[in-house]
Amino acid sequence: MADFVDEISGLPSLVVANEQGEVFEVPELKMVGQSVHSLHLPEERELIRIPYGSDLFVLENRVPFGYDPERGEVVRLETYRGKRVLPVAAFMAPAHTWIYRAAYETLPNAPDLPLYAYTAVGWRNEAFWVTGVRVDDDVRQDPAQFNPREIERAAERMLVRYSSNRLVRHLVENCVRRYGCPAARNFVLERWECPVPTSPGCNANCVGCLSYQPPESFAPAQERIDFVPTVEEIVEFTVPHLENAPNAVVSFGQGCEGEPLTVADVIEAAIREMRKRTEQGTININTNASDPEAVERLCKAGLDSIRVSLNSAQRSFYERYFRPLDYSFEDVLESIRVAKRHGCWVSLNYFVFPGFTDHPDEMAALFELVETYHVDMIQARNLNLDPEVTIRALRLEELDDSDSVGVLTWLDEVRARFPWVRIGYFNPAVRRREGAR
Ligand code: SF4
Repeated sequence: MADFVDEISGLPSLVVANEQGEVFEVPELKMVGQSVHSLHLPEERELIRIPYGSDLFVLENRVPFGYDPERGEVVRLETYRGKRVLPVAAFMAPAHTWIYRAAYETLPNAPDLPLYAYTAVGWRNEAFWVTGVRVDDDVRQDPAQFNPREIERAAERMLVRYSSNRLVRHLVENCVRRYGCPAARNFVLERWECPVPTSPGCNANCVGCLSYQPPESFAPAQERIDFVPTVEEIVEFTVPHLENAPNAVVSFGQGCEGEPLTVADVIEAAIREMRKRTEQGTININTNASDPEAVERLCKAGLDSIRVSLNSAQRSFYERYFRPLDYSFEDVLESIRVAKRHGCWVSLNYFVFPGFTDHPDEMAALFELVETYHVDMIQARNLNLDPEVTIRALRLEELDDSDSVGVLTWLDEVRARFPWVRIGYFNPAVRRREGAR
């Protein structure tokens, strides 16, 4: 706990909300961040102005923590000027990794929070400040890149151009118009990364699955696609995208579906057909990498890059989160080995949880994985899950996070140890090494 008075006085103030949801600053108190258990006063290097397009959430049935410089301690703020107050957290715009989560106490019987990452936020110099860092300069999902009228015109054009294509209809009706998915918007705008959802089913049961949650749980972020598209439906719009879009990437494995490897036959045939028609662009798959044999077939068909989802490089914590139904952590590692053998670009879709990701045990496991498999990229994504659900599911109640080094130091460590590893947030446009097919 930094006790540098001048540094403390310069820190952003605590931000809370009243029961009407009106957000305001508490000038007497400073913002506090939380890792798994520990409370932190953010260092200046851990603070950025809230990124444009971020959201603020008021957290019901919870009590905010703030730092009282007068008393030199963290205080629980149930009421302010006689009125009950609630914690506020920020959901940062894409390309930003959280450093601390919002600090609060959850009251008994409080419902779990929906599937977001609740970043610590404060107020200073007429602006909101968050504990985050931009890890990718790519602007493909920057809210400022999206003009709603232009998107709607483009969406209509796609429906006309691909009038009998169910998958294009799903991307327009469901992903663009219903969920405002940035990847689907880029598809209709014919640029950058285009999503290709294909699978209604999955062979894992992730605690924080975005597309399926049991009825008694919190709601999923989006509904799963309910059909498997044909090879022709996939190829019809992906080939023009690969040929014409700037920095073209087409990606199987989206938030609105299950696991793409469960329909590997269709994807294999589609990739073969795409590569028969064009050599342009990057064909990528976002996956739980559960099936190395299927991954091999996709690599041979022409896959260029693979993004493997991981909440942890330690098997026990991986299994507690992914709850695999018919595969093992070793299968995931074997898929990475196979993809590397075929010259594919391998990214980790690495779910960051402050205090756990930067804990020495997790860092050691991740470093060993990166070293052993020569991973090309770590996409430092935020674990979008109620932190207390994460702690329960991973059984982190006893984790001593006083040894955790901090997310910024973890990032510095990765850069220092693995200079070839790209750190980012999005799938880059890459082409496989020549002759690696
Ligand atoms: S692998 Fe993907 S689709 Fe399957 S349960 Fe996990 S998040 Fe959901």
